[in-house]
Amino acid sequence: MASHIVGYPRMGPKRELKFALESFWDGKSSAEDLEKVSADLRASIWKQMSGAGIKYIPSNTFSYYDQVLDTTAMLGAVPPRYNWTGGEIGFSTYFSMARGNASVPAMEMTKCHFIVPELGPDVNFSYASHKAVNEYNEAKSLGVDTVPVLIGPVTYLLLSKPAKGVEKTFPLLSLLDKILPIYKEVIAELKAAGASWIQFDEPTLVLDLESHQLEAFTKAYAELESSLSGLNVLIETYFADVPAAAFKTLTSLSGVSGFGFDLVRGGQTLDLIKGGFPSGKYLFAGVVDGRNIWANDLEASLTILQSLEGIVGKDKLVVSTSCSLLHTAVDLINEPKLDQEIKSWLAFAAQKVVEVNALAKALAGEKDEAFFSANAAAQASRKSSPRVTNEAVQKAAAALKGSDHRRATNVSARLDAQQKKLNLPILPTTTIGSFPQTIELRRVRREYKAKKISEEEYIKAIKEEINKVVKLQEELDIDVLVHGEPERNDMVEYFGEQLSGFAFTANGWVQSYGSRCVKPPIIYGDVSRPKPMTVFWSTAAQSMTKRPMKGMLTGPVTILNWSFVRNDQPRFETCYQIALAIKDEVEDLEKAGITVIQIDEAALREGLPLRKAEHAFYLDWAVHSFRITNVGVEDTTQIHTHMCYSNFNDIIHSIINMDADVITIENSRSDEKLLSVFREGVKYGAGIGPGVYDIHSPRIPSTEEIADRINKMLAVLETNILWVNPDCGLKTRKYTEVKPALENMVSAAKLLRTQL
Ligand code: GLN
Ligand code: ZN
Repeated sequence: MASHIVGYPRMGPKRELKFALESFWDGKSSAEDLEKVSADLRASIWKQMSGAGIKYIPSNTFSYYDQVLDTTAMLGAVPPRYNWTGGEIGFSTYFSMARGNASVPAMEMTKCHFIVPELGPDVNFSYASHKAVNEYNEAKSLGVDTVPVLIGPVTYLLLSKPAKGVEKTFPLLSLLDKILPIYKEVIAELKAAGASWIQFDEPTLVLDLESHQLEAFTKAYAELESSLSGLNVLIETYFADVPAAAFKTLTSLSGVSGFGFDLVRGGQTLDLIKGGFPSGKYLFAGVVDGRNIWANDLEASLTILQSLEGIVGKDKLVVSTSCSLLHTAVDLINEPKLDQEIKSWLAFAAQKVVEVNALAKALAGEKDEAFFSANAAAQASRKSSPRVTNEAVQKAAAALKGSDHRRATNVSARLDAQQKKLNLPILPTTTIGSFPQTIELRRVRREYKAKKISEEEYIKAIKEEINKVVKLQEELDIDVLVHGEPERNDMVEYFGEQLSGFAFTANGWVQSYGSRCVKPPIIYGDVSRPKPMTVFWSTAAQSMTKRPMKGMLTGPVTILNWSFVRNDQPRFETCYQIALAIKDEVEDLEKAGITVIQIDEAALREGLPLRKAEHAFYLDWAVHSFRITNVGVEDTTQIHTHMCYSNFNDIIHSIINMDADVITIENSRSDEKLLSVFREGVKYGAGIGPGVYDIHSPRIPSTEEIADRINKMLAVLETNILWVNPDCGLKTRKYTEVKPALENMVSAAKLLRTQL
């Protein structure tokens, strides 16, 4: 019985690749150093998988940035502005596309964190990165025969966008004929190198595709069939089930030997397979969750696998992961401090490899009884642990489903009531929350955490910092102040650490993009708030100024979307629980005299399901959760929300349905797109603060530039609803950038006030 891993994390157990990349980018180490660290990481991963007994071990899932960009390099699809002159693409061109260089900015990155290919009729594709075959050979020289992984040609094109100057309607799929010859070259080389299997990742098959898009798959693989002959071909899908029509297309592809499915998120897939799976083909059954950190329920998986065995036959069933393990943490072995009981419930990538193999062996009649019974015991302890279940919370959250929660007064009337109290000028100025996080500040937090400084010293230091930020904002003459969030390391972690039901890892990093990693908290139990989380700091800050001080919270949907969540209850239930905890906090802030409260929902959009049919349900409970947090406040309490994107034309009704008093959003890139959103906003009547400058860049915008921007917004929006603010928090910037930028922002607002 065979086992397979779709892909593996590349950062290393202690983020070795991150540090090697950043040191190379800073010019502190050589290309050889970077290559050496990377080769060592790959070698240890391959050895680990082969040591664990995995039969189909992937190669070419390593990347210096992301695999889509690797494919762009493989196809030589470098946009002309990078002045690439041909030959094998090296670090300089590769990283210029990823990160920009002194003269050219980077290519666009999507919110799904890959670099978007820019294609058009004029691209001269050429085989320009031999990474796939190099990695295959590298593994082979270590004695490991691997399955080289390529992003499939159709998925690659479906993830692309038309290059600048190319019409938006350019049919990207028409480029298939141009990229397939390159794929053929790659395939021929891999075959010559001795590969017996090749894996094409075609995850776009799980999306809502039109028939011409599905036909592209048929066409592509028919075209590749002769090159692929002699090779076993696996088409891998993940992140959701494959819709019925796509399933039919997929399983009818010519020249393909096996199909991989996500059986964790793919609710319908089992039925589809039962309804008809082509005989003689391999089924790669993704039963081990690649996107979460929970130990697999081995007995439950075994039951599923045994039923599949009955359909496809014993020798055609391969146990696999639901998707690449890239999306989970690397190795539990580096969590010595994690609570033992919670640890027994978890499996990171290294442990998941062992699970896959254990399942494959069990199917083959070599069940490791001790391993299975330890797993069963852990599953049972998780189900019955009092640390997981809090009946009061369960009840309160269950009562929310199907109900509606909405502030009683409409937004215009509320804004009037708030204005009487706040007495703000037109075009009120504010910021999004965080101020620069200096090295000293990080040191203070670190030392407090390590108990190297006392609580007293810590409070004193943080209060001094808040005071500095308050004084600065008063000098700048900003209208609604923030405390600057100096006590927070991260907008989710800060709350998770104070809520029950959350656990934290020391090294549970997941690559976000490039060298950036995140360490999501683990929500393992019912969520509750033992005591106020922000009231102390917010009231301290408010006591330092007569101006309104915004209370600053992270919203339930963002906390949910940026955590590893429970798999033993639906996401919405966990979200409602978090919403109730944040509601308590909102009400305590209000009681403590905070009259403006911002509840950030930075990640609301990224939680949207892949398929449109599921959007309405998600948006319904997500928006409902947000409203729950502030349904109990007085009309005179002003609720702000902030979102880190401006692209919400498609979800504008949900944004309005959040019923916030003021919405601040990112707006650095796509002014035009926002216009329609603005118009909706006018009808709605809430305050809107589209960011007037981009905080992601060190550039300091001039007063004229900002005024010009505000004027453009005023052409569409009513004066009395427009707010003036940067487009996100300032924590990654320096004071030398923030001070002049905010100074210009306030000047621009004042200038325009005189002209209105
Ligand atoms: N209040 C947070 C900050 O200012 C918001 C960050 C975000 O939107 N990502 O840092
Ligand atoms: Zn933001």
